[in-house]
Amino acid sequence: MADTAPAATESTTDLNLPLETVDPKVAELADAEARRQAEKIRLIPSENYVSRAVLDATATLLTNKYSEGYPGKRYYEGQQVIDQVERLAIERAQSLFEVEHANVQPYSGSPANLAVYLAFLEPGDKVMGMALPMGGHLTHGWSVSATGKWFRPIQYDVGRETGRVDLDQVRELALAERPKLIFCGGTAIPRLIDFEGFAAIAEEVEAILCADIAHIAGLVAGGAHPSPAPHADVISTTTHKTLRGPRGAMLMSREEHASALDRAVFPGLQGGPHNHTTAAIAVALHEAATEEFRAYAHQIVSNAKALADGLIERGFDLVSGGTDNHLILVDLTNKDIGGKPAAQALDRAGIELNYNTVPYDPRKPFDPSGIRLGTPAVTTRGMTPDDMPRVAGWIDAAVEAAKREDEPALEATAAEVRDFTSAFPLPGVAA
Ligand SMILES: *Cc1c(COP(=O)(O)O)cnc(C)c1O
Repeated sequence: MADTAPAATESTTDLNLPLETVDPKVAELADAEARRQAEKIRLIPSENYVSRAVLDATATLLTNKYSEGYPGKRYYEGQQVIDQVERLAIERAQSLFEVEHANVQPYSGSPANLAVYLAFLEPGDKVMGMALPMGGHLTHGWSVSATGKWFRPIQYDVGRETGRVDLDQVRELALAERPKLIFCGGTAIPRLIDFEGFAAIAEEVEAILCADIAHIAGLVAGGAHPSPAPHADVISTTTHKTLRGPRGAMLMSREEHASALDRAVFPGLQGGPHNHTTAAIAVALHEAATEEFRAYAHQIVSNAKALADGLIERGFDLVSGGTDNHLILVDLTNKDIGGKPAAQALDRAGIELNYNTVPYDPRKPFDPSGIRLGTPAVTTRGMTPDDMPRVAGWIDAAVEAAKREDEPALEATAAEVRDFTSAFPLPGVAA
């Protein structure tokens, strides 16, 4: 207890003291995490660094307010300001993604997707999505998820040779199974998503098409990936990945689905929205509408391509042979090392990414064959395609060191990485 409880001084009851004073333990941990984020090359493709403005918005007194309902129709009084905050976030989402309707209240991507089921399906109805081991998300009907337990999942794959979605296979499966809801998008897809192709299939089988753009929302906003807006019935996205906002989510659609989605989020699934998060989403959307953000989105892709080239040159086997977006999936089979020991060694070498299954992975999900990496965070940090060959070199060196169990070599790489990252100010906190 002594370690975790704040010192019981009378000062903890003063509500105006800063965190460092009231709870030095938590303040220290937050500082330690900031240092860790500063020192590492962060390549987890679903992560980013938010701006100071986004951080500021999340730390406002908007967190104190309950506002169940929607702007103009609330169940609590005192919404003079909150309604304006939420309307601002909605209008910015509508304009940035060119959609008729936006709901900015989902707590995160998974509850947002669950709301889509609640809006359109009954328990036991069929849902079609990409299988998790192929790059899909848990919430697209994978067996361990509520979405796979309460609904009947039909899962499509990627081609064994191509590593890409085969729309003919998707169409055949859809025609045979007639799902009510189809998801496209996922968590480990290195290639463009053909929203128009998916929409044609959904229309043919009279299914609702949900484009889950959680990973690529920032690329879509910045014009670096085609938009699902003209094609999908529903767009689901998190706000904290390439979009570079706070942890949260949005659902967007044409007006015809607005009330079904709104009712599903509240009162269907959630209570009061997190208003400080809504404000920070509004800020992120404001930032994402700028020319600088367009350049950022395109640079994410050029960095990923440069990193992919650097890895291919060093003999790494990339699923689908490369990348069109922010994400790279590497099959380490030819390197004679599993994804997990590789990812753990890379972390010790200052390079943060995650182990991941590759399509048709012969190994177990807890010890798969691949690693997944991407460039949203390093691009925010200010790294350019010229920096990527060095990063690829460090990845190669660390993988080789891991195979030799050469801890000193991993430590040497970590020192080089620390030196390198010190040239890139930490977004959000640098003076
Ligand atoms: C990240 C992600 C989600 C879930 O988001 P959480 O905020 O982690 O719940 C849903 N779908 C896709 C495709 C994702 O990448």
